[in-house]
Amino acid sequence: MNIPLAVPNLSGREGEYLQQCIESSFVSTAGPFVGEFANRIADVSGTASAVVTCSGTVALQMALEGLGVGTNDLVIAPSLTFIATANAIVHSGAKPWLFDVSEDDWTLDLDLIADELERNTGPAERGRRHFESSACVRVIMPVMTLGASVDLDRYVELARIYDLHIVVDAAAAIGGTDYQGRPLGASGVDAVCYSFNGNKTITSGGGGAVASADDDLIQKVSHLISTGRVGENYDHDIVAYNFRMTNLEAAVGLAQFEQLDVFLGRKLAIAASYAELASGFEALAPFPHPPKGKSVFWFSGVQYLGSDIDEVDRFIASMRTSGIDVRPFWKPIHQQIPYSDALRTPMPVTDRLWRRIIPLPCSTGITDNELNFTLEAVARFWGGNG
Ligand SMILES: *Cc1c(COP(=O)(O)O)cnc(C)c1O
Repeated sequence: MNIPLAVPNLSGREGEYLQQCIESSFVSTAGPFVGEFANRIADVSGTASAVVTCSGTVALQMALEGLGVGTNDLVIAPSLTFIATANAIVHSGAKPWLFDVSEDDWTLDLDLIADELERNTGPAERGRRHFESSACVRVIMPVMTLGASVDLDRYVELARIYDLHIVVDAAAAIGGTDYQGRPLGASGVDAVCYSFNGNKTITSGGGGAVASADDDLIQKVSHLISTGRVGENYDHDIVAYNFRMTNLEAAVGLAQFEQLDVFLGRKLAIAASYAELASGFEALAPFPHPPKGKSVFWFSGVQYLGSDIDEVDRFIASMRTSGIDVRPFWKPIHQQIPYSDALRTPMPVTDRLWRRIIPLPCSTGITDNELNFTLEAVARFWGGNG
């Protein structure tokens, strides 16, 4: 057997739509699929509009720049995330202020944020002045870890109290809701950003999107990603980017979107299988699952509770020997070379947690046979060693 961790499921109309691109010669950034795909993303986000981009990283960067974030600004983000979250902040000109996560759901610890803002920042013209660095805190960027729902009402409340913006890194959370059950863009946050990279629940090959209820922000992002062009001719009013999505990518994305509910159903079933498995072994626990809202289980697997962390490496090696693709999870940002000097809170939860999180194969196209093979291999290892 050879069971990949997370690969695209191209069982829909991808080929048909790509063929239409070729036949119409709309293979670049003009073409009908771009707008159609953006509309679907806006619908599922509960916003009037959305802009599609060439990656999720760029979507985050553009949301920040669209909100006027730049040099001498700070963006609060979790350290337990994929490095793109932090990179997008730096690309915007700002710096990350890295926070520990909550044990309960592996997303930002909101009590810690409120406490740090209260103790280490004061009023500023915009946002909050961070005393020690004298930079301005402008944005909180919650990451919906593995697709977990978040309490966006609490974020919006913090943003109101401290004059901040909220940009949600929902890279892997398309189709989810907040704790209140609302689509992510309908909760009062400034922007929701998605990724359509090949390992996400739906893919456009590569791509991303910014959804926002703020039409002014959507206009700004749209202008920023398309060279700052004004009108039909070669007139440009800002130094901008070419970060657009092509019609080819949007064709794949739209075909994928048509199967979103099917894919989300499969992700949920896979997560339930691993949760049930984990509860049968003393050394393991299921991934946490927020009690409210709709989580979308982009990745699922087991977490290791034991004291011998080398056991995780032995488990990964054993799975790989059986042809099951298991790898270490995200190394936290504060442990990464480019961020070794980044401003941060103490990280007891993140440091303890990250090596214990073991994602297991969760492609939406995984067969029952492959899933059972994986479940049996996991049980065999922990049954013998756990
Ligand atoms: C995938 C991902 C991104 C980046 O998206 P790309 O499309 O790969 O640029 C950002 N944040 C998180 C949490 C992700 O999982």
